[in-house]
Amino acid sequence: MRRILLALAASLLTLTAAMTTASSVAADPAPVSAEDVHAADGCYTWGRSLSQGASGEDVRQLQIRVSGYPGYGSVIALDGAFGPATKAAVVRFQQAYGLAADGIAGPATFGKIYELQDDDCTPIHFTYAELNRCNSDWSGGRVSAADAKFNARVTMWKLEALRHAMGDRPLQVNSGFRSVACNNAAGGSSTSRHMYGDAADLGAGSQGFCTIAKQARNHGFTEILGPGYPDHNDHVHTALRSGQFWSAPNCGI
Ligand SMILES: [Zn+2]
Repeated sequence: MRRILLALAASLLTLTAAMTTASSVAADPAPVSAEDVHAADGCYTWGRSLSQGASGEDVRQLQIRVSGYPGYGSVIALDGAFGPATKAAVVRFQQAYGLAADGIAGPATFGKIYELQDDDCTPIHFTYAELNRCNSDWSGGRVSAADAKFNARVTMWKLEALRHAMGDRPLQVNSGFRSVACNNAAGGSSTSRHMYGDAADLGAGSQGFCTIAKQARNHGFTEILGPGYPDHNDHVHTALRSGQFWSAPNCGI
C-alpha cells in the first residue's frame, strides 16, 4: 500500500511538472489536479479523475466497482479501457446514488465507492466468508484460488448493485464458491459456475425470489436460475457464464 502511494505521488509530481512546462495538456483525457486526489482508502485510492478514453489499472479498478451497472442483459469488460460501456455504467452508478450523472468518475464518484467498500476491497454488505462456505483458501475449484476469489469479489459488487436497486434490504448468499469436492457434496452440476467463484445462490429475503431474479437481469448476471427451473424453487442462482442463460419460468423468465 505504502509503495503504491509513493509511486502515485511520484507520478503526480511528474504529471504536475509536465503540466506546468507544457502549454497544452489536451492530449490527456483525464488530467490530474490536486483536488482529484483523495485521502488514502484502505482498499484502493484513485489518483485522477477518469473519463472516456482513459486506460490503465485505475480504470480496471473502477470497472470492477461498477460491474453491477452494465444495463439489462449486459456485462462490462474488466479490460482497463474506459469506453462507452464503462461510461454508461458509471452514469447508472451515479444515478443510483443520486450523484451528478456525467459519466466521469471524479471525487464524488470515488467518494461514494470508498463509502461502499471495506478495506479488503469487498463491498460493505458482502464478505469473502459469505461467498465461500466451502474452504478457507479458495482452492480446488475449476480456476486458480486467486481467480476464484477475484471472481467472487466482482460478483459481490454486482450483488451490492442488485441489493441497492431493491431498496437496500438484506440479501442473503447461501452458497458461493465451491471446490469440485464441495460441489459434488452439494449435488451441484458438473459444469456449475460455483466452481469458478462467480456464482451466488440467494435466499428469498423480504424481496421474494421473483423480484430478485427479475432485477438481477440488470446487474451483470448472464446466468440466472430461479423458481420453476429444476431444483431452483428454494433459491435464485446468479452467475457469470459465456452467453446468456436465464430461466425462472414461475417468474415469467
Ligand atoms: Zn447455484
